[in-house]
Amino acid sequence: MKSWISNYLKPKIKSLFQKRSSENKENLWTTCECKNLIYKEDLQSNLNCCPKCGSHHKLTCNERFKIFFDNGEYELLDFPIPAEDPLGFSDTKKYTDRLNEAKRKTGQKDAVAIATGKINGMDVTVGAQDFRFIGGSFSTASAEGFLHGAQHAIDNKNPFIFFSCTGGVRVMENLLSLSGMTKSVIAVRELKKNRLPFISVLTNPTAGGCTASYATLGDVLIAEKGAIIAFAGARVISNTLKSNDLPMDFQKSEWVQEHGGLDLVLERKYIKSSITTLLNVLLKKAETQVNTDATNVVAIDEGLQKSFKSVRS
Ligand SMILES: [Zn+2]
Repeated sequence: MKSWISNYLKPKIKSLFQKRSSENKENLWTTCECKNLIYKEDLQSNLNCCPKCGSHHKLTCNERFKIFFDNGEYELLDFPIPAEDPLGFSDTKKYTDRLNEAKRKTGQKDAVAIATGKINGMDVTVGAQDFRFIGGSFSTASAEGFLHGAQHAIDNKNPFIFFSCTGGVRVMENLLSLSGMTKSVIAVRELKKNRLPFISVLTNPTAGGCTASYATLGDVLIAEKGAIIAFAGARVISNTLKSNDLPMDFQKSEWVQEHGGLDLVLERKYIKSSITTLLNVLLKKAETQVNTDATNVVAIDEGLQKSFKSVRS
């Protein structure tokens, strides 16, 4: 009896306690690409940017919304989710298992989340992507989310702001997710028809079909500092060219801006204030345009009345 307790039970209890204490330690600290050990609280209080090297770590959708909306207050918008796994796809794992794991990890139904609230007192509709949800890949459900966000913006005459964080389209949905790209382009066109600003913020990483559609269709293209912005990844390009001679900062947002692919590259802490300034300018411009049109309408109307009077007299 004694040997059973000392040989099996005691070590088991000891290992459980050891495991728990190592888990706690792990939860308090994280690492960064600068190889420094960062206290998680320091990282979070610095908008998830490394206090030592300034590297911008990824944000979940809720973290993004909390730092972007006034007082961290916002309303999440629900949108319909189409049939999951329409192709019955399976690779090393079943697609449905991957979906369930992603939902459990993120607490979201899809990689895209849509919210509404105020930034510096201005009503806006905002979308974001969670990279933990199958690499932020754009699925048929993501397309529904994007359309729903754009429609909400149109219905409420809000600007639409979208924070991309994605590896591209959801390969497990093949052509169906590619059709989502087309839907997103149509949604952006509807926003433009309604003279509502669409601001695209590209965060690390924004790649594949998403770069080739909505992410680069904003009235203003903003990227976070150091973000990878690409269509095909550097390794694929390197293999295709059979060369390792790519620039050090290849596909980094600063490099993309230098080559004319972006309007602004900003540190995360300046994004909200910069978007507010831009929206003030864009909305004022839209208002002036509308007023000009209204003046024209009045002028045409007065002209018609004069013509009518002259005909009568
Ligand atoms: Zn760092």
